[in-house]
Amino acid sequence: MIPINALGRHIAPLQNELARIAAEVIGSGHYVLGPGVRAFEQAFAAWCGVAEAVGVANGTDALELALKAVGVGPGDRVAVVPNAAMYGTSAVLACGAEPLFVDVDAEGRIDPAALRERALAVDRLKAVIVTHLYGRLAAIETIVDWAAAQGVAVVEDCAQAHGAMRGGRRAGAFGDVAAFSFYPTKNLGALGDGGAVLSRRPELAARLRPLRQYGWSAKYHNALPGGRNSRLDELQARFLHAMLPRLEGWNARRRAIAQAYRAGIRHPDLRLPEGGGEDDVAHLFVLRCERRDALAAHLHGLGVQTDIHYPLPDHRQPCFAGRYQALQLPMAERLAREVLSLPCFPELDDAEVEAVIAACNAFPET
Ligand SMILES: *Cc1c(COP(=O)(O)O)cnc(C)c1O
Repeated sequence: MIPINALGRHIAPLQNELARIAAEVIGSGHYVLGPGVRAFEQAFAAWCGVAEAVGVANGTDALELALKAVGVGPGDRVAVVPNAAMYGTSAVLACGAEPLFVDVDAEGRIDPAALRERALAVDRLKAVIVTHLYGRLAAIETIVDWAAAQGVAVVEDCAQAHGAMRGGRRAGAFGDVAAFSFYPTKNLGALGDGGAVLSRRPELAARLRPLRQYGWSAKYHNALPGGRNSRLDELQARFLHAMLPRLEGWNARRRAIAQAYRAGIRHPDLRLPEGGGEDDVAHLFVLRCERRDALAAHLHGLGVQTDIHYPLPDHRQPCFAGRYQALQLPMAERLAREVLSLPCFPELDDAEVEAVIAACNAFPET
């Protein structure tokens, strides 16, 4: 079986280096928010071209704390796409705010025109989360311009887009604040959970540091409301710092695999994703097919594992108990029925890529 992901293969070449780091951390006496976290924060911020990074426990916390840093609180509205597995939506709900679901374009990214229109329907839009889905930058410049004129804060969700670049700027350097995840399968992944919030505005970073630790202004002084415990471990920060110089190469290999799929897959019933430029770090390779489930079964039969990112839009999730029943977001709903992800990770070898292409091209036509 050609797997959708293979973390063992990814980490194997790093085994000795990571073991040495682990031994150092164990002997150091610093385990949470120590010098290794500070060093990684600085290195990652510099790599992204952003002034400050604040390490946190995971990407969903990063989104929540980013929203709190720009002042989102109970009763506020936050615009969010419905096709990113509830990550942004969960963060909005955790702030006591209300999601304003905005439909996406055919590539699954927020539609700026839909955002403008939906924003007219509410009187207190505080922020918008722009998700760079599947590793591709959204229309972030357009949204930043619009949001600045409206007084709406922009939070970038970069959990799938580490290093994606446009006009010399990387993901995370466009909005007011940006959230990253270092979950193991991400383009830059730890050996456990981890996340970071980046901001080019130092005053936001100055709020984020207390927010990740109980709202402390000083030890045991809880000055800032909305504080949480969401800290990054020394071990994960040191691992991530060691991996950071390899990220560019990993992204290049992901992009090459995606380009091979674009060049090799020829099928009238399969719609391939756009992308392939430097604004695309190919976190996932997601095609569309109206007979998606039949395609998945066909590929599985030929030894190709696939996944669906994502099968149920947020506004249809059972946790809302029908609250958004009347809301129709046609593109998001359609994508949920049609999307299928092919294996796309740096350690996939050329023979496997060819086998995936051949399996796709062998899908019987209607
Ligand atoms: C993975 C992911 C997150 C959440 O990150 P966790 O570390 O799993 O909490 C948020 N947004 C997107 C787009 C993601 O892919």
